This record gives sequence, structure tokens and C-alpha cells, in this order.
Amino acid sequence: MQKLFIYNTLKAEKEEFQPLKPPHVGMYVCGPTVYSHVHLGNCRTFISFDMIYRYLTFLGYKVRYVRNITDAGHLTDDGSVENDRFVKQSRLEKLEPMELVQKYTVYFHNIMAQFNNLPPSIEPTATGHIVEQIEMTQQLIAKGLAYEVNGSVYFDVKKYNESENYGELSGRNIEELLEGTRDLDGQGEKRDQRDFALWKKASPMHIMRWNSPWGEGFPGWHLECSVMSSKYLGEQFDIHGGGMDLKFPHHECEIAQCKGAHNKAPVKYWMHANMLTLNGKRMSKSTGNTLLPDELFSGKNDLLDKAYSPMVVRFFMMQAHYRSVLDFSSDALNAAEKGYKRLMNAIKDINATEHKEATIDANENSEILALCDECYTHMNDDFNTPRTIASLFELVTKINHYSNTKTFGVLSSDTFKKLKVTMNGFVSDVLGLKAEEAQDSEKLDGVVLLLISMRNQAKADKNYALSDQIRDQLAELGVKLKDGKDGTTYSLD
Ligand code: AMP
Ligand code: ZN
Repeated sequence: MQKLFIYNTLKAEKEEFQPLKPPHVGMYVCGPTVYSHVHLGNCRTFISFDMIYRYLTFLGYKVRYVRNITDAGHLTDDGSVENDRFVKQSRLEKLEPMELVQKYTVYFHNIMAQFNNLPPSIEPTATGHIVEQIEMTQQLIAKGLAYEVNGSVYFDVKKYNESENYGELSGRNIEELLEGTRDLDGQGEKRDQRDFALWKKASPMHIMRWNSPWGEGFPGWHLECSVMSSKYLGEQFDIHGGGMDLKFPHHECEIAQCKGAHNKAPVKYWMHANMLTLNGKRMSKSTGNTLLPDELFSGKNDLLDKAYSPMVVRFFMMQAHYRSVLDFSSDALNAAEKGYKRLMNAIKDINATEHKEATIDANENSEILALCDECYTHMNDDFNTPRTIASLFELVTKINHYSNTKTFGVLSSDTFKKLKVTMNGFVSDVLGLKAEEAQDSEKLDGVVLLLISMRNQAKADKNYALSDQIRDQLAELGVKLKDGKDGTTYSLD
């Protein structure tokens, strides 16, 4: 078997993948913050890690994939209640915070299913792990790496840095960090501006609150991922993923918390997926520069000429490498739609073919086998989906040729089997693409066009009774036919 290489952000290079306890693989991915609709940028990151999960499984690894739900304690910069996104949005929508969480978690799951993302093995929530978060905070205090001030607890970055290297993941230098931080979070309580909150005291207005040894409050955002990853995958596990924007401070803080509490590096391979951009700018909830998956599926957004199906969007994303920036455009989606259809048609063809060996062509056989191997080579090179898709399209060209010339027989039974298994395996199991039923609107279009051609035939046969019947009965159903110079068109009431 070929070796798999993964780009490890921690080492800034590609490394051979060697899981800690093969064939088991532990993978943790930071999940969504469920205070509003998940946008297409978020979806790109989750689709990237779904592909990674799928490929590891395809290679035979037994993967435990943990992806959390952030449903508490997600503050913007200054840590005040006005900036708790859950509290703010709950007020806006007049919902209980947990009602809000439920609403957007259900939405998130629904979108993930439409994109054919496999559910993770475990999907823990921050609010379900408050006790563990308090325990880790206590551990860090006991080790002298955290301190309490006025009902809040902060991680002591300077103390940690005496024996460790805060900034090892993001490559930031602790001195530079001091210059870049403003003391908003903690309003002067922190000993050092670089310190970050493990636990925050709740103000009287704060509705999401829990009891703790330091009074009522809520956990800091970084803590949940340290707690839930180590609880379900152990103090050391194989892969930790998330979007590029989480590298600092979130993942840097996760490393510090885990190393501080467990005296071990928590993660062997850190993986970061790159951003989806819109008009050249990162898609982001906070700036409003977003597209929602629903808008794409319905076509209801000024940026779009038409609707695109979830599989076309998934294919569009798979055409870019997960570590490259991908810019959204209608043109790119139109091209993806054509490519997706071409790929799925070839699969349909090959699956419908009853193969019989005829005159076997040695060259054709070795070309097909080499292209099948290339799919593995590209995926093993840090999950290079665009190159894999290029090899799959070379196979599609071959399939279309054999199909048009009825020459599948040049392949031996073994080669044909390998071709079929490779096409199906990479397209559906690895890239996660499935055939889509024609939309009802497409079906209706087909039926009306069929009736128009039958009416034309009736007219040509001078069977006017039948041609008028077709026109009148369609009109009763709300389908109006219009005869023009260039033939007959129709409109719906
Ligand atoms: P959030 O719900 O903000 O916690 O984000 C959930 C995931 O989406 C994180 O892994 C982010 O890094 C990722 N993400 C946010 N914006 C984008 C974007 N424009 N493109 C790709 N991933 C993103
Ligand atoms: Zn996280």
C-alpha cells in the first residue's frame, strides 16, 4: 500500500501519516457555533474534513471522528454580556438560548445531510461538558498555570511559556503578541494581556450560566475543545482539524491548555482547511459577506443566475485542494455542474455495462490500471482532490470511448472490475458524490416538451382534434402553449 502524507501545520510540512494506535485513528474537528445559520464557508470546512474522514475510512482505518457543537460561551472580543452571541441572538429572535441552539443545530444537521456529509462518530456539546471544563480549570489552577480574579479564571501564558512555547502552532512570537493585543477581554483583571479566559463570571444579565467553585459563570471558548477531545479521544490523539482562522488563538490555546493539564502534546497532526471567499473576501458571519446553502439550492440570491444542487456545490468544492483558497462564482458553479454530470453519467454507464472480454488490448489495460493507481497517489499526497478528479476525468474519457464504440471488451475482466470499483469508490465513497434525482421542475419540463412534440405530430397528421385536446387540457392544468416562429414554447400560470 502506498504511504499517506499529510500536511501538518505544526511542522509546516508534509509528513507520513503514522497513527498512534493503528488501525485506529482519532480525529477531532471544531464544529459550528450554533447561534445562527451555518454559511457556505463553514460548510466548506466541514465538507473538507468529511472527505478526509471518508478517505481514511476507505483506506481501512477505524476512525473515531469527534466534531463538537459550540452552544455556549462564545464571546466576541471584550467578554461582556452584550457580546455573547447566543445571548444577543436569543434576544433578537425572542427565543430561549437553548431554543436558539436547537433551531440552528437542526438546521446544521439538515444542511450536512444534504451535502452528503457523514455524521461524526460523536458530536458532543459544550453545555453537556461543563463539569469537565470546571475540572480542567481546577487542574490548571493547581499547577500554577491559571489564576482566579473576581470570579473569572485566566490561563497564565507567561508562566506556561517558562517551560513551553506558546505560539508553536501559529508561529507567533510571544513578545509580538503583547504588542498586538488590546486589553478588552477581562477589563483589566488579567495579569498579562496575552492571558485568556478559562472561566468567565456571569453578569446579572447573563442568562447562560452555571455554578462553579468561583461563583456563577460560563466557560471560555477554547476550553471546550481541549476537554471534549481528550475525553473522547484520549490525552494524545492523531488528527485535529478546523478552518485556517482557528489556528490562532483557538488552537494555540487548546495546545496550551492540554499541555498544561496533561504534560503531553495533545495532537500528532494539526490540519487546517482554507477559506471560501466571496468577491475575494472571506465568507464570514460577522461581516455579513455570506451565502447560505439554502439560497444556493433555491437560486434565491442576487449573486446567482440559477439554483445549484448540493452535489454540484460539493463537486465544486472538491475541485479545489482543501488547503487552497476557493473563490465562489456562478461561472465556476456552472462549470462544476457540467463536470459533475459528466462524471455521474460515466458511472451510470459503467455500472450498466455487462462486461465480456473480447480482443484484449494490453496498452489499454495498462493505461486504465495506471490511471486507477493515480487516484490513490493523488489522494495520498495530502488529499489532493483536484488531481484525483483530473485522473477520474481521464478515466471518464476512456469509458465514454468504450461506450460509444462498444469496445469495453478490450479490457480484461480484472481490469474492468478494477475500473468499476475505482470509479465508484473514489466518486461515491471518497469524494462523497451521489447521483441526484432530476428535480420535479426538470421532470415537468420533460413531460411538457414531450406533449408539445406529440401535438406537432398530431398537427402534421392533420389530427386537429387531438392537437387541440393537448393544448386545451394543458391549459386547464395551468400550462399555456404559445406557437411562434421558432416553434412552440410554454409558460406556467
Ligand atoms: P464557527 O461556526 O464560526 O465556529 O465556524 C465553524 C467552522 O467554519 C470553523 O472551522 C471555521 O474555521 C470555519 N469557517 C468559517 N468561515 C469560513 C470560510 N469563509 N471558509 C471556510 N471555513 C470557514
Ligand atoms: Zn475548537
